[in-house]
Amino acid sequence: MKKLELVLVAVAAGWIALAAPSCAIESRSELQAGAAAVDITPRDLPLPLIGSFRYRPATGAHDALNSRALVLADGTETVAIAIVDSCYVPRETLDEAKRQAQAETGIPADRMLIAATHTHTAPPPAPGVGLRGPEPAPSMQNEERYSRQLIDGIAASIARAFERLEPVEIGWASTELADKVFNRRWFMKEGTIPPDPFGGTTDQVRMNPPAASPDLVKPSGPVDTEAVALSIRSVAGEPLAVLANYSLHYVGNIPAGMVSADYFGEFSRAITTRLNGGDGFVGALSNGTSGNINNIDFSTPRVRKEPFEQVRNVAGKLADAVAQAHSGIEHMREARIAMEQTELTLTRRKPTRQILEQSRTILQGVSPSELTRRHIYAQRAIDLHDGPDDVSVILQAVRIGDLGIAALPFETFVETGLAIKRASPLQQTFVISLANGAEGYLPTPEHHALGGYETWLGTSRVEIQASERIEAQLLSSLQRLANTVP
Ligand SMILES: [Zn+2]
Repeated sequence: MKKLELVLVAVAAGWIALAAPSCAIESRSELQAGAAAVDITPRDLPLPLIGSFRYRPATGAHDALNSRALVLADGTETVAIAIVDSCYVPRETLDEAKRQAQAETGIPADRMLIAATHTHTAPPPAPGVGLRGPEPAPSMQNEERYSRQLIDGIAASIARAFERLEPVEIGWASTELADKVFNRRWFMKEGTIPPDPFGGTTDQVRMNPPAASPDLVKPSGPVDTEAVALSIRSVAGEPLAVLANYSLHYVGNIPAGMVSADYFGEFSRAITTRLNGGDGFVGALSNGTSGNINNIDFSTPRVRKEPFEQVRNVAGKLADAVAQAHSGIEHMREARIAMEQTELTLTRRKPTRQILEQSRTILQGVSPSELTRRHIYAQRAIDLHDGPDDVSVILQAVRIGDLGIAALPFETFVETGLAIKRASPLQQTFVISLANGAEGYLPTPEHHALGGYETWLGTSRVEIQASERIEAQLLSSLQRLANTVP
């Protein structure tokens, strides 16, 4: 079609505003993206594994940990997203990685979204945050070295993704994988829930109850069965990256004493194979809102499986679903990239005088290598008492065409994720948890009232209304991105 005819068709169709200035498309900078993965498997072992109330020294790695980064640019805005195989990464550590990445790329730190996957078989992200074992000093040195390796690795993944910027086309798809997610907080028959670590007996729900127990009543909330995938490919149609999102805490059952990226790492390998990704292909799986969701079907007895078997199973099924959805994506050469970062100050929860005194008594004469769950919660109560009265958290909203991403530094409950997805003004939205910091669990006020592990003082460290304030602020950011960006 000749240009004049195109304009006439445009007038007839009523989209003259879009099509008439024939220079509009030429003047718009092209969409570019780059992706890179950097290995962050610890080099100096042993190191304690975090994500458990038991001291678990790791003496080897079953599979590699990675920081997987994407950089997206539309000529106006440049945004970096990095998904890190770690249980959680504190804000200070990520702030340092961002400073380093900014120095190397010029991308502003507030245009970087860095999130942990939440594998429960990762080394401590910062020295001293893991449980102490019986053996002395060498492990702390390893922890210091690992923290440096982690910061450098995250920054390097963003810098390499930035170096690889090239013209791309992008698209996204949503699919369902229903039978891998289960709500893990259950109502139980009266009198069957054990006391909380402070001796309280007010919990109405139990986290991870015994499977097939006759005391089970019903789950206390829903699941989110959706998997979303952002796809990036070269203008020649070659797959460059996929950023997926699914709301499952982790899978586990990793060989004992081994570092592992859990199903997040296995998904990465599986999706690379499914999409015939080349050497530079990066498949990342981000954690959705899975604070109360796991992979155990509590209604039937648990079946014994080989270590890593279930990781392969879940990652494989998710990769199948994402690959299937991917085949239907219509990739676009144009999409606006936009991002907004805000901060929100939340009040810290504090122990009552009685809990504080009780906690001090519990810890008297206990050595750091003998800590049980009771001691750990006593220490957390004291730390909350001694610590600051509030905390400022980073909240982010990203817009990639009609796809929205909301990010927050918590183990977020599925109800919050579902609410953000439902109320988002963008066509499709997903939520990334444990992003830009790690401030513990984020139960909704309704779940705080029910009690249970995720609500205990120390697993939850911010005000009871926090989830509602965060949800409102993220939705206003998404709304602004929807309004202000054409
Ligand atoms: Zn967890």
